Amino acid sequence: ASGHTLLREPRYNKGLAFTERERDAHYLRGLLPPAVLTQELQEKKTMHNLRKYEVPLQRYMAMMDLQERNEGLFYKLLIDNVEELLPVVYTPTVGEACQKYGSIFRRPQGLYVSLKDKGKILEVLKNWPERRIQVIVVTDGERILGLGDLGCQGMGIPVGKLSLYTALGGVPPSACLPITIDVGTNNEKLLNDEFYTGLKHKRATGQEYAELLEEFMTAVKRNYGEKILVQFEDFANHNAFELLSKYSSSHLVFNDDIQGTASVVLAGLIASLKLIGGTLADHTFLFLGAGEAGTGIAELIALEISKKTKAPVEETRKKIWLVDSKGLIVQSRVESLQHFKKPWAHEHEPVRELVDAVKAIKPTVLIGTSGVGKQFTQEVVEAMASFNEKPLILALSNPTSQSECTAEEAYTWTKGQAIFASGSPFDPVEYEDKLLVPGQANNAYIFPGFGLGLIISGAIRVHDEMLLAASEALATKVTQENYDKGLIYPPFTNIRKISANIAAKVAATVYDLGLASNLPRPKDLVKYAESRMYSPLYRNYL
Ligand code: NAP
Ligand code: MN
Repeated sequence: ASGHTLLREPRYNKGLAFTERERDAHYLRGLLPPAVLTQELQEKKTMHNLRKYEVPLQRYMAMMDLQERNEGLFYKLLIDNVEELLPVVYTPTVGEACQKYGSIFRRPQGLYVSLKDKGKILEVLKNWPERRIQVIVVTDGERILGLGDLGCQGMGIPVGKLSLYTALGGVPPSACLPITIDVGTNNEKLLNDEFYTGLKHKRATGQEYAELLEEFMTAVKRNYGEKILVQFEDFANHNAFELLSKYSSSHLVFNDDIQGTASVVLAGLIASLKLIGGTLADHTFLFLGAGEAGTGIAELIALEISKKTKAPVEETRKKIWLVDSKGLIVQSRVESLQHFKKPWAHEHEPVRELVDAVKAIKPTVLIGTSGVGKQFTQEVVEAMASFNEKPLILALSNPTSQSECTAEEAYTWTKGQAIFASGSPFDPVEYEDKLLVPGQANNAYIFPGFGLGLIISGAIRVHDEMLLAASEALATKVTQENYDKGLIYPPFTNIRKISANIAAKVAATVYDLGLASNLPRPKDLVKYAESRMYSPLYRNYL
């Protein structure tokens, strides 16, 4: 290839890191200033430039520019500075980027499948330049983070998630395909925006929607085969549960909002037992919010207890209670409940308010997944502390403004007794000379390693056992030093190692269940996972 092409192609470009000999061999002389820099020095310089931007969205745009210019450097930055850059390329900044996608749109990223492509989706897939795709992350933009319907501007989400698949899970960038399905939007602001880039009509629903998704799922399998992983992301819950159950028996599908959340939260719960004592079966759980996150987590807890105690899941569900916008989910409401709530309708008199449910159920673990902030009031939290020595409080709603309570509130209202973790990050809190560090139940702990495990084993279906394996693998990575600060999640710094361990445990389960197509089974799955991980280091072009 000519030198110019090498510089233009983000996969090959290494900017000033091309050596003198490479510059001679590839006709690059003169096309670059004379200095030769190492990748480390480029990294240092780029991080320095990035930190000068004070507005998070500017950092996001600088990162996207880098991704389009120099892929290796982009991933090296992301891998080496994961704690700093995760909030830039993903939540919360990616949310703002999606909201403003119309005006910051440069080069299109990812693949768009719209209602206009009905009957031609296979052709659309074939237009994507890469052939050997292993993971698709797809959204229909209806429930982007906590921001609602952003229509086809939701593309930032699959793009961002897949960059984490590469940086944290080691799936090669060329094997990742972000897709946004555009069936319209119900967002009035976008519909009235003359610069909106998506279809300008209300969302298709019912049969029209189902048919487009059916054509899409069929085309995906035809084009990429049985082993392609399709991750559903940020679909509204009325479609999310249905798509997952419809396609889980015919495709390799995974919903991060339901299953990934469940797995990461279960990992935190398993780890927390070291601090709060007992086994999961000894605890009583109360959720505020019974949607994708709440019922997904609840079901995985019930499955884990069932696996450990051999009790049927119908039994183990009984110590798990959920409150939705109408109050405690109880038997007398069962007729009017959405189907995913029905398993949680236990025998109990109706209770309207959360605080009364807390007092009636006396949970040892309180989990917020309602999307509504400030619901864990002082009265609620004090009640938790009144019948628990160490109440476990998880305020998972995002973004920070929607958190059910802050870390500081959880610690002060329980006189430093609470074990606390949240969806959005909180700073450590000093309480009576003790530094208490809240954990973050970030989905990025699980899905990259989980996906890698499916890929390296050649899995053809996802099974709940694999989610349990991922949770158990993550929980074992919490060290005594972490526990001493009140943490129930490990720090992100070692995430690639953690991902390799999760991948190995997931892959082992895939083999045990007879759902693996990559045979024979590698002997050392951790080593094998590590050997399959993408490296961002520049290659030598001589
Ligand atoms: P969802 O499917 O829309 O579910 C929301 C649930 O909350 C519904 O059951 C809803 O009740 C209930 N609810 C809403 N307002 C309420 C109120 N005032 N009182 C009681 N219940 C109320 O949303 P989701 O996908 O589960 O996400 C929920 C939240 O979890 C979001 O903020 C999200 O950011 C967060 N989340 C965090 C993580 C993480 O920490 N890793 C992962 C995923 C999601 P009805 O059913 O009656 O409408
Ligand atoms: Mn999501």
